[in-house]
Amino acid sequence: MYQICLSQLNSDTALLSDEFTSVIETFIRSKRGKKRRKRFSNTIRTKQLREAASKCTKSHREVHREASRKYDENHPEIVKQVVRKYKQTHSEIVKNAEKVYKVKNPDVNRAATARYHEKRPKNKLMPWTSKHLSGLNYDSKINYSNDKIVNLGPRIPCSWCHALKWKDETQGMCCSSGKVQLPKLGSYPEPLHSLLTHQDQLSEHFLKNARKCNECFQMISFGAKEVREGNFMPTFKVQGQVYHRIGSLMSEANQKPSFLQIYFVGDEHQEK
Ligand SMILES: [Zn+2]
Repeated sequence: MYQICLSQLNSDTALLSDEFTSVIETFIRSKRGKKRRKRFSNTIRTKQLREAASKCTKSHREVHREASRKYDENHPEIVKQVVRKYKQTHSEIVKNAEKVYKVKNPDVNRAATARYHEKRPKNKLMPWTSKHLSGLNYDSKINYSNDKIVNLGPRIPCSWCHALKWKDETQGMCCSSGKVQLPKLGSYPEPLHSLLTHQDQLSEHFLKNARKCNECFQMISFGAKEVREGNFMPTFKVQGQVYHRIGSLMSEANQKPSFLQIYFVGDEHQEK
């Protein structure tokens, strides 16, 4: 009887211990158990901190900006290193950002470029020492402009007509020491006047492309009233207005093309 009771107690204890183990296991496997373990994992903790920092940055932008400005001031070397590293690893982004900045701030970019060119060539360029045949072998590293052969020095304005002259040019060569006084230039003829003074619809386009418009007259011929004095006259003398002669860009039908028109003659397919 005692033995039966003991064996039953043993089997009951075994049952109880099985039940207890399964409860513990369930607890460990439960969400709470997992969470507790996760909370102490370094990776999760780092992620949590990063998320919290990002959330705080977004909700307190001014505070963050002030803090990062202070940090930048106190750690210039670290900031420099980080910027350098970022530029190396994100070269495309940096290039695009620079392009956008240049477009948005053309004046800043122009001033920076001018400053750069002002500083750079003086330090880098070499003096022009060997001049033999150097006209045929241009070297961009040589500073030609500072050599006395090329550099004629500053230009001095005439005290009467304010024309700028080199130091060896005579005093009277421009206005005979104030004896010659030219009448002031009149206003431009139309349509030039309207185009230059923003009174024409095409002014903006014209001023933007003024150089191109001027280049159209590269192929013109010179027109003026020529003055002839005696049989021998070594100088070319004209009187009155000087003008440009330009004809039609295309020759008339059944007419042989000449002068400027020959540049427009050709087979349409061959030109391509
Ligand atoms: Zn003068």
